[in-house]
Amino acid sequence: MEKVDLLIEEGKIKAFLSIEDAGSLKDSGSAEIVDAGGLWVAPGLIDMHVHLREPGEEYKETIRTGTMAAAAGGFVAVACMPNTHPVNDSRSVTEYILQRAAEGGFARVYPVAAVSVGSRGEQLSEFGDLSRAGAVAFSDDGRPVSSSRLMRSALEYARAYDKPIISHAEDLGLSEGGCIHEGEVSAMTGLKGIPSEAEEIMVYRDIELTRFTGGKLHVAHVSTAGSVQLIRQAKARGIRVTAETAPHYFTLTHEAVAEFDTNAKMNPPLRTAEDVEAIRFGLKDGTIDAIATDHAPHSVIEKDIEFELAANGIVGLETCVGLALQLVREGVLNLFQALRALSSNPARILGVAGGAIELGGVANLTLLDSNARYTVDPETFFSLSRNTPFGGRDLQGRAVMTILEGKPVRIKGVAR
Ligand SMILES: [Zn+2]
Repeated sequence: MEKVDLLIEEGKIKAFLSIEDAGSLKDSGSAEIVDAGGLWVAPGLIDMHVHLREPGEEYKETIRTGTMAAAAGGFVAVACMPNTHPVNDSRSVTEYILQRAAEGGFARVYPVAAVSVGSRGEQLSEFGDLSRAGAVAFSDDGRPVSSSRLMRSALEYARAYDKPIISHAEDLGLSEGGCIHEGEVSAMTGLKGIPSEAEEIMVYRDIELTRFTGGKLHVAHVSTAGSVQLIRQAKARGIRVTAETAPHYFTLTHEAVAEFDTNAKMNPPLRTAEDVEAIRFGLKDGTIDAIATDHAPHSVIEKDIEFELAANGIVGLETCVGLALQLVREGVLNLFQALRALSSNPARILGVAGGAIELGGVANLTLLDSNARYTVDPETFFSLSRNTPFGGRDLQGRAVMTILEGKPVRIKGVAR
């Protein structure tokens, strides 16, 4: 890799400079020069699946704190899921989110709007109106679109706006009452299991509906080997499907819940070692396009309770880069594959800017220190919530700065 500095002027990348040139320009005062000596400069990372909890559950997260966590974790942009209160199923909620992000956001926010009114799975929301308001995709995430007929209509309707439908793939009949993966750990603990088939049956259905309608499907939080295989086959058949997984699905197995740690309770649940292996291979061979966190903040009120009753989900924005770079160190991915999964692929799937470092392009960048070693301390998170199973874990590699439209993002006076 060549050592260069970037000259950023009026928010755009003006020049790639050798280190000597940069030194002479530093006094000119005409531009902000970021000295990235010894660091990797990556296209700004984009997390295409987060829950910001605003409007409605601001005690868990707000657009302000969620984007602080994003910037601290290396993300210049996030796409936020619509299962807020109220649900983002209308122009007014989409506009509210964008307005709040513009007022106090530390990262760009791309709203994902609901497929159905209230995410109730009965009646499609107004895709045209929502697209014009700024929605980048549609999803009833948190819940599946159970009706095949409604999913068919959604894929057909979204085609007119060239937007993907993001599938939360879950057969509610099969998953009902379950709280961890159905397997050895569920048998051992007596907790009710969710079989892999609950996910895979819906992945298969959505792939076939996508073929049938010519729409665009994005499968969220892929967790099973079977789903990876179905997506691989669908891509080989030329069906317009993309997929994401989250760091916990390539890092942890269902053994993590054996001690009834509610911070490892999520939906879909953590699966087996074979599934983890398949997810890793799916990232390597490009079957899984993106790494997204599914950042799902919850307070102790929802987590510090009996396992069966605890809410699903973990925060992910501030541990993602370290866990993704672990894959690079283990030789699963090369650096460029990892960065593609964290930047250019999410940008492409959502049809938003970013994912490249180009002369004349907007300077959305993430500076990474691949050598930084640290222990994850949830108390230092910028997120309002602390629900992570990775507390105490030693990681190597972190984001040291995000540059949003040419400006280093500064949180509480600290460059991040
Ligand atoms: Zn989901």
